[in-house]
Amino acid sequence: MEHVDVAIVGAGLAGLSCAYSLAQAGLDVLVVERGDYPGSKNVTGGRLYMNPVRRYMPEIWDEAPFERYVCKERLTMLSDNSSLTLELRSDDFAKKPHHSYTLLRPVFDRWLAERTTAAGAAIVSKYKVDGLLRQGNRIAGIKAEGEEIGANVVVAADGALSFMAEEAGLSYERDPAHFAIGVKETLELPREVIEDRFGLHDEEGCAQLCFGSITKGLTGGGFLYTNKQSVSIGIVLGIAALMTSTEQLETVQLMESFKERAEISKLIKGAETVEYSAHSIPEGGINSIPRLYGNGILVVGDAAGFALNMGIIVRGMDLAIASGAIAAEAIKSAKQRGDYSSSSLSSYEAMLKNSFVLGDLYTFRNVWNVLNNPRLFEKYPAAITAILQELMWVGSDPKQKLSSTVLKHLRKMMNMPTLKDTLEFLKI
Ligand SMILES: Cc1cc2nc3c(=O)[nH]c(=O)nc-3n(C[C@H](O)[C@H](O)[C@H](O)COP(=O)(O)OP(=O)(O)OC[C@H]3O[C@@H](n4cnc5c(N)ncnc54)[C@H](O)[C@@H]3O)c2cc1C
Repeated sequence: MEHVDVAIVGAGLAGLSCAYSLAQAGLDVLVVERGDYPGSKNVTGGRLYMNPVRRYMPEIWDEAPFERYVCKERLTMLSDNSSLTLELRSDDFAKKPHHSYTLLRPVFDRWLAERTTAAGAAIVSKYKVDGLLRQGNRIAGIKAEGEEIGANVVVAADGALSFMAEEAGLSYERDPAHFAIGVKETLELPREVIEDRFGLHDEEGCAQLCFGSITKGLTGGGFLYTNKQSVSIGIVLGIAALMTSTEQLETVQLMESFKERAEISKLIKGAETVEYSAHSIPEGGINSIPRLYGNGILVVGDAAGFALNMGIIVRGMDLAIASGAIAAEAIKSAKQRGDYSSSSLSSYEAMLKNSFVLGDLYTFRNVWNVLNNPRLFEKYPAAITAILQELMWVGSDPKQKLSSTVLKHLRKMMNMPTLKDTLEFLKI
């Protein structure tokens, strides 16, 4: 039976960053990917925040095939027939080294896989891992396509709903409330059209996050990222919200309505769809992560539930890259000790706790509860846009006082029968 130091299941960003670091240190690493090539099955919005990951693989970032650096941030709140967009442009976003870049996974992952192979790792695509090998109470390798490959450590980098973590007995029963589903399209447009429509120059890019009536009251939102010659557009919905929806809404249907919105359709008019994908996203935060290590196994990236949706910031790729690199450090130390037991590999979790990975997941542990408020998606956008519209509207009748206008809409939003009830509720 073939035997390697480390077998990594999944050539996504978590698996590749782990393999890159291990191969550089001279370990014998095999990465197994079920897709046709690294990046072929991977979905992201996507924008990568650079500051968290620059310290990992520092020597290769300069040559990474990024699309555009984001210098324009937009947040759009939509009601049924109106919208409010906040746009933030700052010189700081334009300074080098850049804060964040848009990217396309089929290009980016493929490039990272080439760098990882050049560092000495073996990557085998079109090869699906079917299960784990066990020796006594430890994981001792992988089973794939009828073959068995022994390993001192297996790294589960197989993404959200990790089958490997489940088979190793590390994950808990999955709760639909901890997952979202995302659909994404890549729409091709000429470079100058993108720059004209989004008001960009050269390598500048725009990231636009949208929430409100586009998800018909369900937890979630839409996104739009500019690439060099394409726009990535998509919609993300909480799975539990979708399952309990009485309207039997479908993600594809909501995506089409999102694209047809007046605010969006003019940005993507005439574009050709060149890629369509859908993927689950672990959004349960720190309360839903599995056990991160066991005898002979570590769990990284989405497989470990390392994603963070804060409404105005969506992160997963930086956590995947960092957790992969940190797992590699834990494995290198375990190799020096010649001990791949659970207690030896527990240094992985200790290092994660000292990093932004578990640090940020802990700090924002309650964000999902905040985002799960249906008012955010229906009532607040409707009330805020209605108030602003009325304030800016000049009709033929005398205009109401500002306070009366605001109170009228708050009363409507809160379904308060009288003005007195509203004032009491607001403690005014
Ligand atoms: C719609 C959407 C928008 C997002 N937007 C952003 C964003 O803007 N910014 C951001 O930072 N994050 C974003 N994310 C999250 C981010 O994409 C993920 O956190 C990231 O891709 C996780 O990387 P990973 O390597 O852990 O997992 P993945 O990229 O999912 O890689 C897992 C790999 O394992 C392989 N695999 C699975 N099972 C097996 C098997 N049995 N055998 C062999 N191979 C296997 C898969 O084919 C895949 O290549 C978004 C996600 C989605 C779905």
